Amino acid sequence: MSKQPSSYLSSKLEGRPKADGNGNGIYSLKPINKGELVAVFGGVIYEWDAFIHLPEIERSLCIQVEDRHFLVPRPIGEGDYVNHSCNPNAGLSGQIGLVAMRDIKVGEEVCFDYAMCDTMPYDEFNCGCGSPNCRGQVGGSDWQKPELQKRYAGFFAPHVQRKIDAQRTEKRAFVRAMRTKTQKYNSPISTSVYE
Ligand SMILES: [Zn+2]
Repeated sequence: MSKQPSSYLSSKLEGRPKADGNGNGIYSLKPINKGELVAVFGGVIYEWDAFIHLPEIERSLCIQVEDRHFLVPRPIGEGDYVNHSCNPNAGLSGQIGLVAMRDIKVGEEVCFDYAMCDTMPYDEFNCGCGSPNCRGQVGGSDWQKPELQKRYAGFFAPHVQRKIDAQRTEKRAFVRAMRTKTQKYNSPISTSVYE
């Protein structure tokens, strides 16, 4: 147990069992300012095909860092027990950094939304986060929800942000194509009146 964990957890936080007995969580011991670094994930990188055969505990504690690459903590440390919440107070900074999205008070559990990094169906579950805006089910395609894209702007992992950008470009191209088509159909009237 003397081995240093692969992840970093700010000294302002500690990992401990949740009060409801439902696993472990990360709690603040001191106030944390918006933008402050709270954790950096570490470990070993696996490609999807090997990753899906790992034990469930390793899969559930990992973080997706690229389209098909996963960071698995070894050895596991307190910083790897950051839970999901549909109303998170932390978000990703780059591939492996976790920062406060707002000021965090002493005693609050620090959580992020797995939609910020997940695009694959490896850790889907019924959410019991208890927040008023809980979406009930957490899955690998949640990043596509427009309300989440808006709420977590600036806090998605780079590989997810690339997907969001590509989706927006595609949508804009579609709208442009539809507009051109409509203009073509309407052109006999509009051109004769306005030209
Ligand atoms: Zn939830």
